[in-house]
This record gives sequence, structure tokens and C-alpha cells, in this order.
Amino acid sequence: MNLARFPRRRYTAGPTPLEPLPHLTRHLGGRVELWIKRDDLLGLAGGGNKTRKLEFLVADALAKGADTLVTVGAPQSNHCRLTLAAAVREGLKCRLILEERVPGSYRADASGNNLLFDLMGVETVTVVAGGSDLNAAMAGALADLVAAGRLGYAIPGGGSNPRGALGYVACAEELLAQSFEQGVAFDHVVVASGSAGTHAGLVVGLEAANADLPVTGINVRRPRPEQEGNVHALAQATAMFAGVPEIDRAAVTCLDRWVGPGYSLPTPEMVAAVRLLAATEGVLLDPVYTGKAMAGLLDLVREGHFKAGSRIVFVHTGGSPALFAYRPILAGPLAG
Ligand SMILES: *Cc1c(COP(=O)(O)O)cnc(C)c1O
Repeated sequence: MNLARFPRRRYTAGPTPLEPLPHLTRHLGGRVELWIKRDDLLGLAGGGNKTRKLEFLVADALAKGADTLVTVGAPQSNHCRLTLAAAVREGLKCRLILEERVPGSYRADASGNNLLFDLMGVETVTVVAGGSDLNAAMAGALADLVAAGRLGYAIPGGGSNPRGALGYVACAEELLAQSFEQGVAFDHVVVASGSAGTHAGLVVGLEAANADLPVTGINVRRPRPEQEGNVHALAQATAMFAGVPEIDRAAVTCLDRWVGPGYSLPTPEMVAAVRLLAATEGVLLDPVYTGKAMAGLLDLVREGHFKAGSRIVFVHTGGSPALFAYRPILAGPLAG
């Protein structure tokens, strides 16, 4: 594989840190060793996993002469925030379509990412009901632009198509290079699994490198069979796009025990995980993705799921700006 063949913009200067989590490891009894890949420190405004996907997607938009990025996400979408930030960086406009997955959850004056849409000068925000035909909404937005003599570039939800997933193929290569440099071999990768591009890209990158490093995805929305099907389908398409061999279905594992009542809806385990990482390691997770993914990792460690002595790396995919929209749910007894 040769990722240099794909057009790419750079939004982060160098690799993200790969760090041990000594306090958390001790807190959990020291049976396994926990590490973190700090993709919450990627570039753009409050970077996270979407930054890596956008490096490839926005390069394609520029190559095609687009003047506007159009994308879709939830009302507190990190993907929408980062797409907008990339547009600002590139001198492009940005139009957002927000899917109200939890009825009544959109408030124009909400904090967190919603505030940032406004600060960075989004051109339009269109709110559609959960379950709407998002492809039709995006096609409508592109047609509006054409009618105005402009050219839009549609980025799918979460930036999860084969081109976007290349960002996480690149991350897998980066992780393996750091692992070698730092002299630490990992036995397992754990990551949040949502629109699937992150999980699929990691699997493709690790499989193509023959790394013998299994990835466990922790679902944030869908039941296990559906999510495993989505991740595998996207991994296959990404492998074909990148020109590497097919991906075995057995390389895809998605656990769905930590979704709770639904996408973006809080669980006590998520709150405990967010508070624990902040208090033990000074690492900020988020309520929608990494809080639930870490809740899964913590339970798996406590249940003895991993062999004693295993070294596990959690890919922190970002999202902390959304914390500020969840204050009443996350704040402790002293918060007043
Ligand atoms: C989008 C997102 C994810 C999920 O990544 P996918 O590629 O959509 O599966 C995880 N964490 C954060 C913070 C996100 O914004």
C-alpha cells in the first residue's frame, strides 16, 4: 500500500502522542497495561478522529474545484464542527444538515459544538427529523448551490466512505511505527465504533501490515450484527480503494453492551468513565463516543476479558467540546 498516491491536506503537525495510562492501570489492579493514542489532539478546531478523514476528503474537494463543503451530522456533531473548521482553513464555505436523532434535542442556542458552528461562521444550518433521507437532503443542498452558480462537495456522515477511512489506515501505520519506535508491542486496540470509518480504517491498516493486532469496536448506536456488517462492508470497500487484499469478516468485532438507551443518550457507566479518566489521568473524554467506549474497555478489563499482562491501546477519538453541552449530567456533587 502507498498512501502517498492519494491527495491529502495536512491538519496536524506530526503524529499524535502514544502514552501510557499508569494511574488508570494501577486503579484497575495492574493485571493489564493501558495505553492511549491521543487522537483528541489532532489539528483543526478541537481536533478528533474526523480531522484525519478530512485530510483526504478535503483534498479531493479542492481537486474537484468545490467552493463549499456540505455535510450531515447530529446536533452536537464533532464531524460537522471539524468539517466547518477545515472549510474555514481552506477558504471554503460550509453548509450543515443536522439530523435530530433524539426528537426535540436541537436547540439553536445550545453550548458545545453547536456554539462553535456559529463562531466559525457556518453558512446555513438545516435541521431535519431523525430517520430522514440524508442523501436526498445532501443532494438538495448540492442542487441549491449549483442553482447559485457554485459547486458543493458532499461529505457523508462522519466522513465515513473509503476515501475518508484512509485517514485511519494512515493512523494504523502511524501507531505501528510509534509502537516500534517506543519499543512497546500492543496486544489489542479498542476504539469507539459509530459511522464505521475509524474502525474500518484501523482494521484495513493493521491487516494490510499483517500486524496481528486485533481491534475491538465499542458501539455507540447500533446493535452488534448491524454494526459488524457496516464496518466489514466499509473495510472491504476501503481495502479495494487502497489496493490491499480483502478483509476477513473475523477481523471485525463490535460490542454493543454500552450503547444504553440510544445514540448520545447518557448512561451511568459513561458518566463514571468520563469522571474517572479526568480524575486519574487528566484526559477529557466525551459523552457520546469515547465515554461509552471507555466504559466498555473498563468493564472488559474488570471482567478479565483480556489475558493477564496484555498491553491495550485505547484510541481516543476526541469529542471533548460536547462535554460542555452535558454539564448537568456530568457535573459532580460539588458543582452547585
Ligand atoms: C465520529 C466520532 C467517533 C466515531 O467514529 P466513526 O468513524 O464515525 O465510527 C468516535 N469518537 C468521536 C469523538 C467522534 O466524533
